[in-house]
Amino acid sequence: MNLQDYNTPIKPTWCPGCGNFGTWTAFKMAAAKEGWDSSNTALIADVGCHGHIANYTNINALVGLHGRAVPAATGIKLANNKLNVFTFIGDGGCLAEGGNHFIHACRRNHDMVIIIHDNAIYGLTTGQTSPRSPHGFISKSTPEGNIDMPLNPMAIAIASGATFVARGLFSDIAQLTQLFIDANNHKGIAIVDVLQACPSFNKEYTPEYFKQNTYYLPKDYKVYNKERAFTKALEWGEKQIPLGIFYEDNKQLSYEAQIPFIQTHSVSENKPVKRDVSELYKRFI
Ligand code: SF4
Repeated sequence: MNLQDYNTPIKPTWCPGCGNFGTWTAFKMAAAKEGWDSSNTALIADVGCHGHIANYTNINALVGLHGRAVPAATGIKLANNKLNVFTFIGDGGCLAEGGNHFIHACRRNHDMVIIIHDNAIYGLTTGQTSPRSPHGFISKSTPEGNIDMPLNPMAIAIASGATFVARGLFSDIAQLTQLFIDANNHKGIAIVDVLQACPSFNKEYTPEYFKQNTYYLPKDYKVYNKERAFTKALEWGEKQIPLGIFYEDNKQLSYEAQIPFIQTHSVSENKPVKRDVSELYKRFI
């Protein structure tokens, strides 16, 4: 498929300058390069502005309930291990409503990709403070300033056992495209936190702010050092926001790789497996 083939007839309604455009474009570029289509790939979106990716992208997709995209993706992966599975989720859905699903997906090391549209605001509901909004952040829901501290998705992912943890920037399409490819090639869970602008409602994390304060991890950075990765994950602030692959562990087996049945059977192959459950009936009924 060419890049244009990934567009559905539905025209995006995202606000001009929305970070979702960059993330979506990078995903389509990765898809065109790698040959991802409905025969080998499934997209799962959450509720939020980003969720329209499911409507705009010409690959089979499912939209989950708010914060529940991750368990839906897990189910799809378990049903058909051959699929590339991509979850798109906002920082609110991922870290608030779906926080429990996120940490346990990391812990279990499911072989799939989670892309966090991290704009530190609830955009679809017109601008409320999210778990990623900074302390003191003023919004409709915190008019006198946010008294909570923001959550750190990178540190949470590393601490929870994720085996690939990376951060990209919506405006660097080339880097983001490669991150999505690397994430999908990783055998285990891959978290890609994408810093995004929401020009309509987040006036702090602007494209200019990200441009001035992000930097790329150096070429000699060792991705296999978990302690170092955690230290990097804690960096945030003026000229102190790292981008790139923070951590990768290729030794830990994925959840799916540890279950032989999943390796050899797929729901999509339409071959029902007969099992004798009469012993179970005798035990429990
Ligand atoms: Fe994008 Fe924010 Fe507009 Fe939603 S409200 S489409 S996140 S710019």
